[in-house]
Amino acid sequence: MRRMALTLDEARAFHDEICVLDLHADTAKLMDKLGYDLAARHERPMPTMANVFGHVDLPRMRDGGVAGQFFSFWTAPIPERGCTRSVTKQLDALDVAMQKHPSELGWTRTGADVRAAKAAGKISALGGIEGGQALEGQLETIEAFSRRGVRYLGLLHFSKNAIGRPAKGRGMDASEGLTAFGRDVVRECERTGVIVDLAHINRRGFMDALELATLPAMVSHTGVLGVHEHWRNIDDEQIRAVANNGGCIGIIFSRRYLGSASIESVVDHIKHVIDVAGEDVPALGSDFDGFVVPPVGLEDIAAMPNLTVALSRRGIGNRVLEKILGGNVLRVLDAVPAWGKLAA
Ligand SMILES: [Zn+2]
Repeated sequence: MRRMALTLDEARAFHDEICVLDLHADTAKLMDKLGYDLAARHERPMPTMANVFGHVDLPRMRDGGVAGQFFSFWTAPIPERGCTRSVTKQLDALDVAMQKHPSELGWTRTGADVRAAKAAGKISALGGIEGGQALEGQLETIEAFSRRGVRYLGLLHFSKNAIGRPAKGRGMDASEGLTAFGRDVVRECERTGVIVDLAHINRRGFMDALELATLPAMVSHTGVLGVHEHWRNIDDEQIRAVANNGGCIGIIFSRRYLGSASIESVVDHIKHVIDVAGEDVPALGSDFDGFVVPPVGLEDIAAMPNLTVALSRRGIGNRVLEKILGGNVLRVLDAVPAWGKLAA
């Protein structure tokens, strides 16, 4: 018997029961550069093309029934010098917010941490880095970032770095995969409990990293080519490679990469991942505050239950919904031990 689709109220109640997690938001940069107050409620953006940031704060995360957010620390790669410091400043900005609001926000690293924070009424912050230029070519930086709360490293962003080549941007070259340093970075991530994030890397490097990986990886924010033709999106073979590796794929909330301004397009991309590789792979990777324009109905993080309703209306039941909304991410967090081989 087919279940009735969830109502908005039922979706909210469902979020209360489970752990909803998002894999990618650039909010820490706003906190560092603009003094954006994560604890203050900001007005909900209008569904226009000018809605490119101001998507995330703690009150609206609570409204959206979101248990945790990966804050992704991005850097301007030219010059590379200063990128390590830029990530450190974004980590500092989150530390300051936690010191001011210790009962509201805390670092988490594991599935158990996220569940405990939720039970205590706290929102989980998890750290991620977007672009390996943040290492400035120094392998030991990975351990230092891991100790500060970083749980994933996006190897590439929009330009070539010491690790490899971007899917698009300065120094793109489809024939080049991971460099020798890039291979060392993947190994060092696994040693230090940092998940490898394959968003933005070119296809060759993507496959190289998965071939080398002994632990699950992720794609923190992407669309899929099977739904929309765009250089930023990944193909079915890449989706299957992530599935075989035990990883997960966060679907982005960007009109450009989804190919539509409709919330239904997010459902289309998620369903495609399920069709190609199964229900253990899809996750959410909004890219909020990353200069993306989200679809109508997903204007900010408070709107997350609308997506749950849309998924439910397309026939996805609660057991699979729980995986998409956060369960698959929790599984990867548990499969890649926090601290890796470091003593905690
Ligand atoms: Zn990105």
